[in-house]
Amino acid sequence: MPEEKKTKTVKTIKVDVDKCNGCRACEMICSAYHAAPKYSGNNPERSRVRVIREPLRDLYVPVYAGEYTPAECLGRDKYVIDGKEYEECAFCRASCPSRDLFKEPDSGLPLKCDMCEGEDEPLCVKWCIVDALTYEEREEEAEEDEKPEDIDVGIEALADKYGMDKIMDAVARMSQQKKD
Ligand code: SF4
Ligand code: SF4
Repeated sequence: MPEEKKTKTVKTIKVDVDKCNGCRACEMICSAYHAAPKYSGNNPERSRVRVIREPLRDLYVPVYAGEYTPAECLGRDKYVIDGKEYEECAFCRASCPSRDLFKEPDSGLPLKCDMCEGEDEPLCVKWCIVDALTYEEREEEAEEDEKPEDIDVGIEALADKYGMDKIMDAVARMSQQKKD
């Protein structure tokens, strides 16, 4: 029987910036859903999506919290939209040491969008009544997990137990004995 290919589910939220009106319902529901206990508060600073707002230009850009990074990056992005230059990092998804965005306000712990794990559809998508947010799921072939060779696993276990220097000494000694 042919071996079944492993697949993974890729989840995407498509953001249509032209449709977003900056109502911030997405921020509200996200922060409420992630409050402890659930729905006990709705502080947007706890939201995993933040809407960058420019009302005078009628520009609203929802940005989703991505990975935590322990160090500021040295290469930065600057966006110019409709002739206006936005500050560095304005649309970055990372929770990083250079700003307070995407950090839990009390503890400072990083926030990351979890796609409302367990819900049939992300709540920010459900609450966006103008359809600026659309949820899509697709199956993709997963990379086969690369299995370490037995010898690697064995050496790693020995290195953990005795330290790499001792292992190298032992290998040198054994190889010398073989030659003698
Ligand atoms: S709920 Fe929709 S329209 Fe409102 S700010 Fe969020 S993305 Fe924009
Ligand atoms: S998908 Fe869920 S966790 Fe992510 S921003 Fe939307 S409401 Fe928050």
